[in-house]
Amino acid sequence: MLIGIDDTDSNEGMCTTYLAALLADELRVFGTVAGFPYLIRLNPTISYKTRGNAALGIELNLFAEDSETKEKVISFVTEKIETYAELSCDQTNPGAVFIFDEAYESLRLPLNDFYKKAVTGVIEIEEATAFLNQAELEFPNAVFHASMKNGRGLIGSLAACGAMLNSDTDTDFTFEYVVYRLPSNWGSCGGPERFVDKESLILADQMTTPETWDTIDFDKKTKPFPVCVPSGNDPVLFGIRGNSAAAVSKAAECVISEEIEKAQIFKTNQGTDAHLISVRFVSEMKPLHSYILEGIVHSIAETIEGGHDIFKLRDPSGGILTCAAFEPTGNFRHIIRELIPEDEIRVYGSFKNETLNLEKMKVLKLAEDLKSENPICQECGKRMESAGAGQGFRCKKCKTKTESKTEVLIPRKINIGYYEVPPSARRHLSKPLIRYSKEDLKS
Ligand code: ATP
Repeated sequence: MLIGIDDTDSNEGMCTTYLAALLADELRVFGTVAGFPYLIRLNPTISYKTRGNAALGIELNLFAEDSETKEKVISFVTEKIETYAELSCDQTNPGAVFIFDEAYESLRLPLNDFYKKAVTGVIEIEEATAFLNQAELEFPNAVFHASMKNGRGLIGSLAACGAMLNSDTDTDFTFEYVVYRLPSNWGSCGGPERFVDKESLILADQMTTPETWDTIDFDKKTKPFPVCVPSGNDPVLFGIRGNSAAAVSKAAECVISEEIEKAQIFKTNQGTDAHLISVRFVSEMKPLHSYILEGIVHSIAETIEGGHDIFKLRDPSGGILTCAAFEPTGNFRHIIRELIPEDEIRVYGSFKNETLNLEKMKVLKLAEDLKSENPICQECGKRMESAGAGQGFRCKKCKTKTESKTEVLIPRKINIGYYEVPPSARRHLSKPLIRYSKEDLKS
């Protein structure tokens, strides 16, 4: 059976991944957990999200498939959500979806479409409930749901089931090894600051790179920042991301930290670019969606208040797009400032408030950066000076003359190729360049 859960946490505490890790342990009395639990990231522009718009899924192979066991599992999961969810928070609206084997084949494609829409687009609660009502009518003993408050979590829960059910065909998945603090240490219980030894994280990174990423942010070389350690009240101590369960486990073994409660490896769509839609024209873009678009730099970057850099891009039809590299993207802004009109680039990012929030960029072709200067005297090699308005240039010493200024090529400080934001500014879903093969980097 598939179990999807979402929307149990708030900024004050909890984390739906913790509840999933707890369930993955405790549901073992009813069956075996198939593979790893799923940590599915959904549309990063959704305003209801607490942090990273995560939904969680578990596939459980039940020891017995009778209706009594099914009911027991459903009540067990629902009670755990009631116990752990931050129900007093306005923004916390839990949902859980349960799908049994009998419905798998019929729901595979519609659930895949639902997942794809949840990761790229915007879904209303009514769309999720209509989907569930229809499925429950068709499969009365194989599809169930439970929700609290306005039930918005049903959107993520259904999407997590869709991702799990189609995980054999959708092959780009990564892994995260998430470590949880002792409950007495949680910030929501007044616990102390997290202790994770920075040197051990640097070692973990060195031992496993390029199979793991985003453990440390080396963007500011003088001050490496442990990006895998969160700062809020939630139970997470740190999380290591990588291409395989083996790589993230090897990295986690190197880490020295405070005493932990538990650890869980998740299979995830993080680092896969699942949220991006390729388009040719700016006119195709809708707010709250994320895109890949090729175009020509229309105007150079302007640094606005707050340290954000904004420039304009022109698509092949002349449509203009405002692109932004916000202040937290650090050194990435220095690259953006090197772009000049007529450079050809491909941009990747989320479209919100009529602006594309850049996640990465490929420079496809560099324009020539020309500067006009007073000519050089052919006799003595010295720079000529103006001979007066409209009278060209002359060399004071040799008395030679030339009509016009000369154009000189200024060397460009950026190259053709990919550039990305640093790990601390990276969206969970963004595919880091470290995951690109040689072929990917050529495309
Ligand atoms: P955390 O990362 O700490 O688990 P979160 O950032 O995942 O928190 P949630 O508390 O899960 O945030 O809230 C996100 C809410 O948005 C959920 O109710 C989820 O069902 C809903 N949601 C997710 N994707 C979409 C979408 N594409 N359209 C509309 N609602 C969505």
